[in-house]
Amino acid sequence: MDLYEYQGKELFRRVGIPVSDGRLATTPEEARSAAEELGGPVVVKAQVLTGGRGKAGGVKLAADPAEAEARSRDIIGLDIRGHVVRKVWVEKASDIAKEYYLSLTFDRGAKKPLFMLTRQGGVDIEEVAERDPGAIVRLHVDPLEGFQPYQARRLAFGAGIDDPSEQKQLLSIIGRLYEAFVTFDAMLCEINPLIVTPAGEVKALDSKFTVDDNALYKHAEIEEMRDPESVPPEERKAREMGVTYVKLDGDVGILGNGAGLVMSTLDVIALAGGRPANFCDLGGGGDAQGVVDALEVITGDPQVKAILFNIFGGITRCDEVARGILAALERMTIELPIVVRLDGTNADEGRRLLAQAAPPNLHTEPTMLDAARRAVELSR
Ligand code: GDP
Ligand code: MN
Repeated sequence: MDLYEYQGKELFRRVGIPVSDGRLATTPEEARSAAEELGGPVVVKAQVLTGGRGKAGGVKLAADPAEAEARSRDIIGLDIRGHVVRKVWVEKASDIAKEYYLSLTFDRGAKKPLFMLTRQGGVDIEEVAERDPGAIVRLHVDPLEGFQPYQARRLAFGAGIDDPSEQKQLLSIIGRLYEAFVTFDAMLCEINPLIVTPAGEVKALDSKFTVDDNALYKHAEIEEMRDPESVPPEERKAREMGVTYVKLDGDVGILGNGAGLVMSTLDVIALAGGRPANFCDLGGGGDAQGVVDALEVITGDPQVKAILFNIFGGITRCDEVARGILAALERMTIELPIVVRLDGTNADEGRRLLAQAAPPNLHTEPTMLDAARRAVELSR
């Protein structure tokens, strides 16, 4: 789960990483009063779940409340790479002397958290990695030993940060970032830029914070930070129903069991010259309710012109899925063509059930490729 900048900063604040005081606003008027409360110049920042807001015009300085209102009027409603801004974070403006970059993420290859630090902050880390890879210091933390203070010193010295006061503040921030990472079960904690003010204060000016979805059951307060409006309506509905669903932009709705099979189905649809409308995984189930839920989600997408069921029976029995499909068709009216390919455990029985009931819009095919071709044809 990705957090907004203001939410990540709230978690930073809790572990003691310095951040600026700010307020959330959803209207230009609210932004104006936020600026009044904060006093002095502020920065108005689009809250969207994507980076590069500065370049896209989503981060603007404002000298006074009237200007904060005007800048918010520009920013609210702005489309930043498909993310429409509905909220802005109004923060006390900082003076910047230096911009550094600090992050902690999972290195899956090494199976360890990985720190990265560079004095070349404020730009994309990918850009630095390409232009000047030697400027980035990397350091793994052994998850069993945990973070050790000497590691923070190694990072700071390695990056060439030689001011003693900066070092001291940075060492504390590095330790606290590790604490945030572990405490909140993060997958990524990134501070870009980590600034040094002209007065020598080091603080987090931005935050990118991703929490492991599988750990959310331990963090009710983070789960509550989820913004239902940041997810498209069908995905929201799917989540509520417990259906794995990813929206794509073609016109063939895909239902399969198991992520691997579903992914291959996307490929076969492409091979047949079509475009998948979504990615829907029934998982190990396939009982009537599961099929009804998935079909409800899929048919909620007006772009879907045909539906393809691709089921390989392993533990899942094809006859049970066939019963599920028939039960679903009894409970809900679906006029879209449905193509079914069943193979594996009890496939014959499953096909026989479908043939017996023979709903007019249901077509069975013997192989995955035949089924994909048929679904693509029917989606036209
Ligand atoms: P991003 O573009 O989405 O990564 O958004 P950031 O929060 O990193 O802001 C982009 C840039 O805006 C930063 O690199 C800064 O240069 C600038 N910026 C953000 N906040 C302030 C501020 O308080 N004062 C000043 N002077 N510049 C700021
Ligand atoms: Mn940034």
